[in-house]
Amino acid sequence: MRLFIALDIPADIRARLTEYMEQARALAPEARWARVEGLHVTLKFVGHVDDARVDQIKAALKSIKIAPFEVNFAGVGFFPNPNAARVFWAGVDGGDHLPRLASTIDAALEKLGFERETKPYHPHLTLARTSSRPVRELRPLVPDSPPQFGTMTAREFFLYQSQPQKGGSKYTKLEGFRLE
Ligand code: ATP
Ligand code: MG
Repeated sequence: MRLFIALDIPADIRARLTEYMEQARALAPEARWARVEGLHVTLKFVGHVDDARVDQIKAALKSIKIAPFEVNFAGVGFFPNPNAARVFWAGVDGGDHLPRLASTIDAALEKLGFERETKPYHPHLTLARTSSRPVRELRPLVPDSPPQFGTMTAREFFLYQSQPQKGGSKYTKLEGFRLE
């Protein structure tokens, strides 16, 4: 199955993002907009693993000891850049805590034989993806002042399964791991 590890977001932040995405969607209807119920902050993309290895992964994640931390959601932008936009994202700022959690997870899975991430970690929420006519369509989406979506305390992260579906992949939580 296809797996990734991520933070979920609380209802109040999701509601603000939903409202923002509805407005933005009207400006860029051709982009592939994410399902709001699936919004998450990816910590580690694992990819395909044999079902038999899932328990091993859960055990490795369970052994991680990191304290809860604050995460702020604000601003929007593009990957890799506005002129070659592929992903339209909302900004996620957890200070050093978020990259530290991501790299701790990465190290825990490396011990199981999974390859370490080679690219730098840029925490974000993917709001939409686009492949055609990215610039003209999405540029109006960047407002003069960055939208504020709220702050949460991250107290838990999740192992998710991703299943491709019409209208965007569907994500299912397999297990939660408390930060403490
Ligand atoms: P789809 O691939 O159907 O467009 P998706 O990208 O959301 O949807 P997955 O490819 O299963 O679904 O990815 C699950 C999560 O992992 C997403 O947040 C995605 O951005 C992230 N992800 C996927 N591939 C990578 C990768 N190679 N490196 C880092 N993160 C990734
Ligand atoms: Mg993908």
